[in-house]
Amino acid sequence: MQYYSTSDNSYRTDLTRAIVHCVAPDGGLYMPASWPTVPKAFFNNIDQLSLTDIAYVVANSLLGDDVDGAVLKKIVGDSLNFKIPLVELADGIFALELFHGPSLSFKDVGTRFLARLYRHLAAGAGKTPGRINVLVATTGNSGGAIANAFLGLEGVEVFILYPRGRLSRMQEAQFATLGANTHPIEVRGTIDDCNQLVDTALLDTELNSALHLTSANSLNLGRVLPQIIYFFEACARLKAAGIDPSTADFAMPCGNLSNVTAAAMARKMGAPIGSITGACLPGVFADVAAEGKPVPPFNPAKGYPANLPRLWALYGGDTAAMRRDIHAAVFTPAQQEEAVRTVYSVFGYTAEPRSASAVAALLRRTQNGRPGVALINTHPAKMLDRMTAITGHAVELPLQFNRFMAQTAKKDKIDPTLPALRKILTKYN
Ligand SMILES: *Cc1c(COP(=O)(O)O)cnc(C)c1O
Repeated sequence: MQYYSTSDNSYRTDLTRAIVHCVAPDGGLYMPASWPTVPKAFFNNIDQLSLTDIAYVVANSLLGDDVDGAVLKKIVGDSLNFKIPLVELADGIFALELFHGPSLSFKDVGTRFLARLYRHLAAGAGKTPGRINVLVATTGNSGGAIANAFLGLEGVEVFILYPRGRLSRMQEAQFATLGANTHPIEVRGTIDDCNQLVDTALLDTELNSALHLTSANSLNLGRVLPQIIYFFEACARLKAAGIDPSTADFAMPCGNLSNVTAAAMARKMGAPIGSITGACLPGVFADVAAEGKPVPPFNPAKGYPANLPRLWALYGGDTAAMRRDIHAAVFTPAQQEEAVRTVYSVFGYTAEPRSASAVAALLRRTQNGRPGVALINTHPAKMLDRMTAITGHAVELPLQFNRFMAQTAKKDKIDPTLPALRKILTKYN
């Protein structure tokens, strides 16, 4: 399979470059040059297949030209070693719980798959440049997922930059208590400062020739493709429940649009999913999908959904076609909190604010009796204090937390400057 750049349709590169380099030389995002469809016969007995069986068929359709079947089977099995249950909240209304992985977030799926694919491709190409340094800026959930996914991986050091005072205790504990090759860095600044520092470091040629730097955020196609898998999984479980997935509405929280994009990709590969709705805050995606404003030029800065160029490219840059397929349900932060209370009172189900807004978006769309699936992105206990404040009752802690909370956080603290970051990078290389 060849990969092109969303900034240049005629550009072509191979899988290794697309994954290891993350962003194209022209600053665009990598996309597969064609979309394979899964075999038709796959749907005959999909309801009897396991998550890893389904994952293998999807992964093999996408990556089978470039990655040996046995290797792919192992990558899939090792990445998805947890359940993704489809829980029925009420008649025909389902929650796809994506939070049963080690860091309790859907981001485990993409980061665990990426870490393993990355190791395989870098080794195969003979390109392992000594040590690889993965940089990530996080406000919470990606730090935990990436640190846990790359933990203990030989030849890889992971640096997690996060703004002081912005994360919950749980979120910080998930990456700051691991040790080994993971290095938390508390930045005296905002998330914008953290993102800017990572971007500056990634573009600094001197630093890059000394230390091989890369990123593992959702600009990396290797994080988005594995998310296609769980849309097929949801179709399988709906079929097992006697529901035709093509009649079902799918709603999901969104920020960088990795799930909305993966849903559209799944449909392109033949997943018979009904409608796709992104539950979002006011902003660029809401302007485009709900208001019909033009897609603004790609700008990977704060507030621009990282995967919008990919989503748009799936519709050949035709905004009207995209809007017929992809809907937005806009929620302010206060409306998200209201959604938490609504979902609890209607279904007795506790969801964190963004996931609750996806369930609420579904309720708006399913008044005509259509079945629906809402993606539940993270475990509510990741925002323990906020959830308690909203609901007035305690959230049950999942077992995975014991591993993190028993340890003390160890971190470096820096000002948001390149020399300060360079000093830390050098210390661990
Ligand atoms: C990362 C994250 C998002 C953003 O998801 P996308 O699919 O990339 O838009 C949304 N909600 C939660 C809780 C997250 O952790």
